[in-house]
Parts: sequence; structure tokens; C-alpha cells
Amino acid sequence: MTRLVVVGNGMAGARLVSEVRARDRHVTVTVFGAETWQPYNRVLLSNVVAGTMTPDQVRLLDPAWYADHSVTALPGVEVTSIDRETQAVITAGGGREPYDVLVLATGSQAVVPRVPGAAGAVAFRTLDDCRTILEAAATARRAVVVGGGLLGIEAARGLAGRGLPVTLLHLAGHLMNRQLDAEAGLVLGETLAGLGVEIRTGVVVEEIFDDGVRLTGGETVEADLVVFACGVRPVTGLARDAGLEVARGIVVDDEMRTDDPSIFAIGECAEHDGTVYGLVAPAWEQAAVVADIVTGTDKTSRYRGSRMVTRLKARSVELAAMGETHLTEDDAEVVRFSHRAAGTYRKLVIRDGRLVGAILLGATDAVGNLTQLFDRGGPLPGDRAGLLFPGLSGSAVAESPVRMPDAAKVCQCNNVTKGQIRACWESGARDVEAVAAATRATTGCGGCRDAVEGIVGWLCEQEGVSA
Ligand SMILES: Cc1cc2nc3c(=O)[nH]c(=O)nc-3n(C[C@H](O)[C@H](O)[C@H](O)COP(=O)(O)OP(=O)(O)OC[C@H]3O[C@@H](n4cnc5c(N)ncnc54)[C@H](O)[C@@H]3O)c2cc1C
Repeated sequence: MTRLVVVGNGMAGARLVSEVRARDRHVTVTVFGAETWQPYNRVLLSNVVAGTMTPDQVRLLDPAWYADHSVTALPGVEVTSIDRETQAVITAGGGREPYDVLVLATGSQAVVPRVPGAAGAVAFRTLDDCRTILEAAATARRAVVVGGGLLGIEAARGLAGRGLPVTLLHLAGHLMNRQLDAEAGLVLGETLAGLGVEIRTGVVVEEIFDDGVRLTGGETVEADLVVFACGVRPVTGLARDAGLEVARGIVVDDEMRTDDPSIFAIGECAEHDGTVYGLVAPAWEQAAVVADIVTGTDKTSRYRGSRMVTRLKARSVELAAMGETHLTEDDAEVVRFSHRAAGTYRKLVIRDGRLVGAILLGATDAVGNLTQLFDRGGPLPGDRAGLLFPGLSGSAVAESPVRMPDAAKVCQCNNVTKGQIRACWESGARDVEAVAAATRATTGCGGCRDAVEGIVGWLCEQEGVSA
């Protein structure tokens, strides 16, 4: 029997274990998790900070699942080294677990800037961090969030939604500068300001002190809660110490295998084809590939890279961004609509007649179609306005489930197509919950829930029509 050991029971590790069990019961599985919690959906932590979900509601697998599936899960146990010679991992308590196949799924850790006083601030990565933030928020008078990327914005919006005055400090000239162009960043900032988040861009934090934050130049921003959301760094120490090849992440091939054939790496700790992904969809795809290979279900399974779509999960702020959003008219065809007073900005970036980037801010009604066009990389219809505004009469592509091809990806996180949802409906699933149970659609970031509801509703209507 193959002995599989997994280090890291986060979103990639937990998914791998369930993918393995869905294929095979003859592999013995042991999974180590440094966090004391049962594995949880990290993507939904913003909802925990915002108070719209409890820690229980974000759990991925519970102890009963492990018992039922004969998986040994060891929460709160950190692996400190790998003995590649004898093929065993060593834990912080001195325990030793032999493996035939080892999978590293150690994720990332939050980057905390090296400024004086930073030790007194809290990062935003784990459920423990959320607990600390929420405890502090209960008595705080003012909060500062450092970092205006996706996580910082979600944290700031969540805290503001709790009635806490929040200042969001960002180093770059505009918010979410990696995903958005300057105009979109500006519109987003204005939307957030309207929701009670004070935005300061182009500022550098020099020091954290008891009553707030000092910026370069001496200005201070008052706060008794400081949250850092300054990016993440892949956790690669175990691999590096064991002599595996590490660049930014642990280097893997298309099988997700490291340069040691017995050791794989998946999720945010892995670097595939020069890319370290920071989203859950690639991690879950990678987990499926490793499960195929380790169980022998499909030894030809390969991971070929992912196209990333970023969606913000902040109440009253609709935002989706994908691809090369920064290109201008000099390098590509750009179709843009901006209406700052309404908080709306839409942009398509087209090269050689194909969609290579898009931003939808203020309303994401077109996101389903644009994601499909971006994923498939096929030629675009000539009606560009119809792409930006799916409701326009005569639009070339309608958002309606009727017009969506079966191959269209509806759930980005779990890679579920309309065809799979239809097949699931045909085998008896009549609501979103049943479809989610069978396909996992909606169980990642939850951003596709409306689309799945639309498809299920339409199929039910069709049934009514033909009955
Ligand atoms: C607030 C927030 C919002 C996000 N929103 C989105 C989103 O909307 N969409 C999206 O796609 N992604 C989002 N992400 C990113 C997404 O959560 C990550 O891509 C995903 O969690 C990566 O999974 P992973 O298993 O690689 O890493 P993790 O989930 O970080 O899990 C790694 C686990 O390994 C454990 N570990 C590390 N070293 C050891 C060791 N030596 N021994 C034992 N255990 C160890 C860690 O404690 C951790 O539990 C968000 C992240 C955060 C924090």
C-alpha cells in the first residue's frame, strides 16, 4: 500500500486528500496541519471579518469525514524537516512519519513589513488572525489597514461595515495596482470612500506606535487597531532545507513533481512554469492532477497552468479583473467605459481579435461571458459594446444561460462548466445545494452562485415548458 504524507492542511492539502479518497481507498493518507483548526475555506475569511459568516460556516472538512475516510489528520502538528534518505518527515515534537509519496502544500505566509512596532500589528491570513482582528475591533475606536490589494480592501470594507472608522494606506499610486489600471483604481477608491473607508495612496508606513501609524514625512494616522495586508510569501523553508529546487516557490513540473520524484508540491508554495499562483482555482486543479497520478487513476494527468480571474468579495463593491489590464491603446485595442459618479468602470483589452484582459467595476453582469472568452481565447464578436453591456439590444453575446455554450466555465474555483451543471440537473439535482454537493460549484469564493442559480432555474423552467 502506498503511504502518502501531506504537509499542510489548508485549501490545497485538504482538497488533495479528498480527491485521493474520491479515487482510491488503498493509499494510506496522513496529513499534517500546523494550524489547530480543521481545514477551512481561507477565501471566505473576509466574510468572517465582515461578520457575514462564522468560523463554523467556512469549514471544509470535519473530524467525522476523516474518520469515515480512514485519513489520519494531525491538526496543530508542524513538520520541521524532511529526511529524504530514509523517506520520512519529522515533526516539531520529534515524531517521524515515513512516506512513499510526500506532497508539500505549505501555502504562503503573510508578509509583515520590517518597521518598528510591526510586532504589535496583526496580519490577515488565518482564522486565528481573524479572531485577533475581531477581538480588537470590538473595543477599537479607529483602524488602519496597511495594503490596498485585494485582501486589504476586503479587510477594510469588512471593518467599516462593522461601523469602525478605517483608513486604508497603500504604497502604490492606486488601489489594487497589480490587477487594475489607474482609472479603475481611482473609481474603486471613490466607491470605498462612499462606504466609509478613508483611502490614502502613495504613502509609506515608517512606524507603528501605540496610538497609530507614522508615515514617511512625519504625518501620523490615528488607530488602535492596525492590520497588515501587504502580500504573501510562499512557505518554502522545508523544501529548501531538504535540498529541493526552490526559486520563488518550490519548483515543479507538469505532474507537480519536484526534482525529487517522490515529492510533489501544490498550491501557493509551488512554482509551475515560472508562476506562483495566489488563487485557489490553480491549487485545486493541481490537487486533482496529483491525486490522479498518486492513485494511478490517470498517470497521464498534467497541470498546464491557469488563467487567473480576480473577484473582490466586499459588500456593495462589485469588481472582477482578469489578464493584461494595464495595456493601453499603444499595445492593444482598448474598449473602455468610465462613469465615475456612478462608480462604474469597464474595460476590455483585445489583441489580435482576442480578449486578453478585462476590468468590470461597479457591476459584474458581463463577467460570465468575458471569463469564457478570456479562458477560451477564441475570436471575439465584432459588437464590442455588447460585450461590455450584455443587456444592450442587439448585443452579440447574451449572459443568459440559454446562450451559454456547454463548455463555458461557470465556477472558476472548481472548474465546473455549464455542461456539467446540466448533466447534474439531468441526474436529479434540482437546486443549487444539490448541484454544489455533486459538482462543488459555488463552494470556492461563491462568486458564481447567481450564475448557477440562473442555469438551474432556466433548466427547471424548460422542464416546466416541455412537461
Ligand atoms: C482573506 C483572503 C481572501 C482570499 N480571497 C481569495 C479569492 O477571492 N479567490 C481566490 O482564488 N483566492 C483567494 N485567497 C487566496 C486563497 O486562500 C489561497 O490561494 C489558498 O488558500 C491557497 O491554498 P494553499 O493550501 O496553498 O495554502 P493555505 O491555504 O495557506 O494552506 C497552507 C497550510 O499549510 C500549513 N503549513 C505550512 N507549513 C507547514 C508545516 N511545516 N507543517 C504543517 N503544516 C504547515 C499552514 O499552516 C496552512 O494551514 C484569499 C486569501 C485570503 C487570506
